[in-house]
Amino acid sequence: RAKKHLGQHFLTDQNIARDIVDSLSLEGYKKVLEVGPGMGVLTKFLLEKDVETYVAEIDNESIDYLKKHYPKLEEQHFVGDFLKTDIPAVFGGEELAVIGNFPYNISSQILFKIIDNFQYVPEMSGMFQKEVAERTSGVPRTKDYGILSVLVQAYYDVEYLFTVHENVFNPPPKVKSGVIRMKRNLKPGLEGNEVLFKQIVKAGFGQRRKKMSNSLKVLGIPEAMSSHRFLDIRAEELSVADFIDFTNEWKSSLGV
Ligand code: SAM
Repeated sequence: RAKKHLGQHFLTDQNIARDIVDSLSLEGYKKVLEVGPGMGVLTKFLLEKDVETYVAEIDNESIDYLKKHYPKLEEQHFVGDFLKTDIPAVFGGEELAVIGNFPYNISSQILFKIIDNFQYVPEMSGMFQKEVAERTSGVPRTKDYGILSVLVQAYYDVEYLFTVHENVFNPPPKVKSGVIRMKRNLKPGLEGNEVLFKQIVKAGFGQRRKKMSNSLKVLGIPEAMSSHRFLDIRAEELSVADFIDFTNEWKSSLGV
């Protein structure tokens, strides 16, 4: 009775569930928010750890199931829709780790939400469809390298941990899955320039096959930047540090 529109695929392999939970360091924070706990296959292992477990779940049937089977989960630790959760408000500005076997239909939104709250989220471990896990950990000059790689890696170091086969889910998804771990590591030079950085990365990869001079036209390239060497190459050639340097030069060329 899994609900397709909620991206429900329940993990049936206990060892994989334990491995995902064990991949959290549990260092430097006291709280963990699990996104999409479903029937609690990860939650069970989290509740054995020395952390306060919170759950973001939107499916009422799953919520009832969790309340019934995991009495250790506190009523006030159910936070509802992750995408609508005001993280600093719910956690009083305290740091927390995020974990999940995520609903794949909103993978990018989940990752962007974590980035937007990076000052509260030192660590994340979780499962996405393999392609997203690979894009998140992608390196320059590969097909996986793109907006997700650069934006996530600007804030976090990303490790691809392992691949998970379709047949350990009920119902099985159409694609393989991949587990990643992200540890916060804000790259130098980003602070204060984040809005422009995100605009440049998104526009730069907007037309992957074109040179940056072309794909960044939509932003209005400042005159002083017009002969920058990065404009003569494609976005996929640039490292995260290159994008940050480029953003900073762009900003100073505007005299702001
Ligand atoms: N963690 C469980 C497991 O491993 O078996 C369930 C994983 S299932 C892939 C994704 C879960 O995310 C479902 O339980 C679904 O109801 C929930 N979900 C979907 N959208 C959500 C959202 N916006 N916020 C919180 N949970 C959501």
